[in-house]
Amino acid sequence: MLDSYSGSRLFLRLIFFLFFCFSLGLLFGRVIEIVMLGSIGLLFWHYHQISRLNYWLWHDRRLTPPNGRGSWEGVFNGIYRLQGKNRKRISQLAYILGRFRQGAEALPDAAVVLDSEYNILWCNQLARLLLGFVWPQDSGQRIDNLLRHPDFSLYLKKGEYAEPFELAAPLSENGVLEIRIMPYGTGQYLFIARDITHVRHLEGMRKDFVANVSHELKTPLTVLQGYLEMMQGMAEPDSPNMKAMVQMQQQTTRMKSMVEQLLVLSRIEDASNIDLEQTINMSALFNLLVEEAKALSQGQYQLHFFCEEKCDVHGDEVQLRSACSNLISNAIRYTPEGGVIEISWKHTPAGGVFSVKDTGEGIAIQHLGRLTERFYRVDSARSRGSGGTGLGLAITKHALSHHQSELNIVSELGKGSTFSFVIPQHLLEMSPIAV
Ligand code: ADP
Repeated sequence: MLDSYSGSRLFLRLIFFLFFCFSLGLLFGRVIEIVMLGSIGLLFWHYHQISRLNYWLWHDRRLTPPNGRGSWEGVFNGIYRLQGKNRKRISQLAYILGRFRQGAEALPDAAVVLDSEYNILWCNQLARLLLGFVWPQDSGQRIDNLLRHPDFSLYLKKGEYAEPFELAAPLSENGVLEIRIMPYGTGQYLFIARDITHVRHLEGMRKDFVANVSHELKTPLTVLQGYLEMMQGMAEPDSPNMKAMVQMQQQTTRMKSMVEQLLVLSRIEDASNIDLEQTINMSALFNLLVEEAKALSQGQYQLHFFCEEKCDVHGDEVQLRSACSNLISNAIRYTPEGGVIEISWKHTPAGGVFSVKDTGEGIAIQHLGRLTERFYRVDSARSRGSGGTGLGLAITKHALSHHQSELNIVSELGKGSTFSFVIPQHLLEMSPIAV
């Protein structure tokens, strides 16, 4: 039976022993000698019990402790009970760990557990197949030592994991992996890699299809437009055919501009790695935009311009021009005549800000998040009437993403809208005059 000894019980035992020695001493007339002898004996007995405990703890293979006597019985039993509890806890933990590992092995993705320094603590079977990890040899290795890519190291260094990271698969030639990192527990990370080669392949096919169809449509549309113009010139101005021909001409022009926009979008999507060594002269670009705005406005709008001199951008001029032009042409198309349009390029602490503000019809809040989707239009009929294709803001979004920027839209129905974007500081080149 496991038993514990209370402090008072131990003390009573000691008193009883000393009293026994004292009585024996009285009987033989040698109180001090017998009490001392008893105390020394008690000391040796305790020493013996300690050495038994020590032997059992360090050398004995038996699980059960030796039989303790007297006050030591409680100590031996207590240690045995503690051991039993620990064994139970360890087996419970092993069971939980086993279940976690089974769950992680069943994942359709490569899963790797990392410590706070991104050293590998554990990985599942798929991680070995997809990432080429060797287990257990790679345990404790930093993950960016095994997945060597400068952009991946930068991604880890930044520590912003809201967006996934795409990495070329280390074991397959054209494979693409989508990496997600999730912090969990105390300073640990769960690293998940998913093979998205198939998705990227389908996306590539879709892009190629759109680009090819657009390209193939260009020639027949140009031919159609040419003949329509010719026939229009030959038809009587008031003849019934004239109205039909004007409409055919309008629709062909619309189709042509849609095809051209689709081609621009495909080209911008394809050119994901732009040459950041190129410097765009923003003052010159702004002057072109001013001319374009004036031509579109035809004197029917109040136009205001501001351009920060000598604040240039590293990037692709064609793409950035396309992004800015789309915002300006939208402002003019969706603002009633007489409206005010402010176009500016300013240097701020956050970076270079390009902004187009209008006093047009404005956009209801529920549409704002979807405006950059292809063919999304708040009012299709109106957009079509204004010559819109529904692709302008999609082009702008892609062009801006190549310049590490995104489109900000602030709008109020009936009052107007402000479309702006910020080019980050490291892509700007300030000339000494402006500093
Ligand atoms: P679209 O060629 O139809 O103008 P965009 O992609 O350029 O296509 O714009 C998407 C939609 O966003 C437009 O159809 C229009 O409804 C809305 N929009 C864009 N710019 C403005 C603006 N300045 N004011 C009001 N609505 C706008």
